[in-house]
Amino acid sequence: MMVLDYWTLLLAIGLSAFCLAGTLFAAWLAARVERFMLSWSVGMWAVVAAVVFYSVYVKAPSAILAGCWFVALLTGFSFIWGAAYRYRTDRPGRVTTVRAAAVGCTVTVAPLIFGLDGVGFIALNLCAATLLALTASEYWRCRAEAPLPTVGIVVLYALTAVSFALCAAVLLSERRWVLGHAPQNWAENVNLVMSVIGITGIGAMSLALNQWRIASRHRRDAMTDALTGLLNRRALFDRYGAQPVGPHTAVLAFDLDGFKAINDRHGHAVGDRVLRVFASVLSDACRHTDTIARLGGEEFAVVLDRTVADRATAIAERIRKTFETSIIQFDGGSIHCTVSAGIAFGREGGAPFDTVLNGADKALYASKRGGRNRVSLATDGLRLVV
Ligand code: GH3
Ligand code: MG
Ligand code: MG
Repeated sequence: MMVLDYWTLLLAIGLSAFCLAGTLFAAWLAARVERFMLSWSVGMWAVVAAVVFYSVYVKAPSAILAGCWFVALLTGFSFIWGAAYRYRTDRPGRVTTVRAAAVGCTVTVAPLIFGLDGVGFIALNLCAATLLALTASEYWRCRAEAPLPTVGIVVLYALTAVSFALCAAVLLSERRWVLGHAPQNWAENVNLVMSVIGITGIGAMSLALNQWRIASRHRRDAMTDALTGLLNRRALFDRYGAQPVGPHTAVLAFDLDGFKAINDRHGHAVGDRVLRVFASVLSDACRHTDTIARLGGEEFAVVLDRTVADRATAIAERIRKTFETSIIQFDGGSIHCTVSAGIAFGREGGAPFDTVLNGADKALYASKRGGRNRVSLATDGLRLVV
């Protein structure tokens, strides 16, 4: 490779790492909840420093400069791995990051101290390859979220890892334990090219992936009831509002009994706890294919597909009984609460969802009129079944 190409590639690596580090830092400043951006940005700044140390070392080799280059590169890659870990798990992983950096720096700088810079280069390339492979595996493990960009990122990290491993393999095969200058061989050139592709490609895809994640988080928040974690009214109507409801789909409406009195007597926080307990009773009683939503206040709805009246009634009864026997603890006491329910089915040829929900509501109010803590099934008229 011509000398000009070598320096151009190095400049390209330095500049792309610099731009990515700056972009990540700005992205973190804009939304500080995305903490992995900060770790990743720190990692990229360290990579920029490593490129600078490496460039100076190529011109004027010295053990001190090599040491600075090794420490900067491995600290950078450790932070990048830590950022990927945080991206996947939402946990800080600081100890692992610091430990990885400490081990990497020790095993690569030690040979320099004994004058074995070739051994140091081999260790450096192996450590870098390992850290990049670990980073690739973090993304691989969360590929289900957005398969295409995530697998693209995994491939780029893995290829960059391989390019570092090749550098180590060439030095090992040549048994060059002492060099006195930066290694120059075909594997180093492949590594430089792969680094440019890796930094730019991974940078672009990861930022796009993160935007996608933020957008889907906002979408999910807009569909979720913050107190109970159930779907909210909007999500329920998004799912069922536009499609006609057939005769084998049941809508169950629930309304807690005397809930205002609980709030008045024990405070809003206890009321909130009662709502959460009821939400978990609903979740435990239903299958994951059933739809559970909080419509607002102390009103909930469940949609059961492919069911019949006996089964829907049995489920509503189970929910009613379980809730009735649930003791809700709070600081300074415990209470229990009851719930009334109404059930309505769609019809042959399909009925609008809000009509069926209204039918369930009417049955629910029959339960209230009948004395509360009971389940009613709407038929053509209104038949009280429990
Ligand atoms: P009924 O047996 O007839 O259903 O009587 P109720 O007291 O349950 O019904 P009512 O509609 O009179 O009161 C509902 C109460 O729910 C009034 C409101 O303050 C309370 N509420 C609505 N949303 C929330 C909430 O998010 N948290 C708490 N703690 N209370 C809420
Ligand atoms: Mg109500
Ligand atoms: Mg109520």
